[in-house]
Amino acid sequence: MSKEIKPLEKKVWLSSPTMHGEEIKYVQEAYETNWMSTVGANINEVEKEICKKVGCKYAVALASGTSSLHLAVKLAGVKPGDKVFCSDMTFAATVNPVVYEGGVPVFIDTEYDTWNMDPVALEKAFELYPEVKVVVVAHLYGTPGKIDEIKAVCKKHNAVIVEDAAESLGATYKGKQTGTFGNYNCISFNGNKIITGSSGGMLLTDSEEAANKARKWSTQSREAAAWYQHEEIGYNYRMSNVIAGVVRGQIPHLEEHIAQKKAIYERYKEGLKDLPVKMNPIDFKNSEPNYWLSCMIIDQDAMGEQVRGEQKALYKHEKGKSTPTEILEKIASINAEGRPIWKPMHMQPIFRMNPFVTRNGNGRAQTNAYIDGVATDIGMDIFERGLCLPSDNKMTTEEQDTIIEVIKSCFE
Ligand SMILES: *Cc1c(COP(=O)(O)O)cnc(C)c1O
Repeated sequence: MSKEIKPLEKKVWLSSPTMHGEEIKYVQEAYETNWMSTVGANINEVEKEICKKVGCKYAVALASGTSSLHLAVKLAGVKPGDKVFCSDMTFAATVNPVVYEGGVPVFIDTEYDTWNMDPVALEKAFELYPEVKVVVVAHLYGTPGKIDEIKAVCKKHNAVIVEDAAESLGATYKGKQTGTFGNYNCISFNGNKIITGSSGGMLLTDSEEAANKARKWSTQSREAAAWYQHEEIGYNYRMSNVIAGVVRGQIPHLEEHIAQKKAIYERYKEGLKDLPVKMNPIDFKNSEPNYWLSCMIIDQDAMGEQVRGEQKALYKHEKGKSTPTEILEKIASINAEGRPIWKPMHMQPIFRMNPFVTRNGNGRAQTNAYIDGVATDIGMDIFERGLCLPSDNKMTTEEQDTIIEVIKSCFE
């Protein structure tokens, strides 16, 4: 390493909550009116506001994005033993709810254009498993996937779509917001998302019947009787009115957060343009992302040697080359937080027996292999060569410049 880069005085996080003041006002209101419960004005208000913002008919405020996905999977009718097509390169919360219902996730490989579910691999999967009736699709890092293509494949095979828009609130595809393309859609207000309630999530749908069912299931499936009468299994999944107060204060700041995240993405793009790397791809023709996380991927011929086991990684530094492991170590050494790309689900020990479908139909590769320069397992390839950069919207331009400098030093 040529020159010493001074660590940042204040830690720069990957993506941390950004409060504005209104949040505490609504939390205070909940306290003073004693609606310290899963009922109250904040809940009603955030459901209304999200419907308006996203453009859906019904929103059900729930405890988390994961609980929203669980109810969405139930609404989609997944039964024990049913195979369900799922995004592969994503957070485990996208697919775990399928397993809660006894379903079997079948992982669909990723495409290079948006880093989301590959519609070609999805079509292939329907050839292999024509009985499948549900597809769970995520928009990674706030970038909408190939929605039209995926919807066309699902329509052709009569499949219901569960859309995981946990990372993409505010992103649009052909002018329409994510969270409106599936039959049952989910967003998250987890602490590191574009806006947050500290926790929380929502189920979005245009079906009144589905919204009513989700509301009932989320409050222990109580029947309309004078006593506690139950005809179905229920859950304690409703959002708290205190959490809803935080969300309520955040909603007006969504656009501002997106603008800050977009500026971060563009500064990285400019700052890294002379390196053998690319930013995470965006299909500008069709979509406007929310830029939740800025990511980069190292060109194939600039990848140094890197070996990842189940828990640890080793790499060798080579002049002019680098690896995600090296870059993440160097970023951490200057007091900033990056993260590997979501490790694909088909590579996870817990899902080692689940089917995985690629566009070439090669199935699971043992190593990151290329045929004519194209990876046979695209998710594995992006995981090996990619990483998430510190993307906190409170990061200053000086701090970001230091991060860019440290990334450059990795290729010296
Ligand atoms: C955060 C996230 C979830 C889960 O949301 P929680 O509110 O944390 O339960 C689901 N899917 C994706 C892709 C996410 O990033």
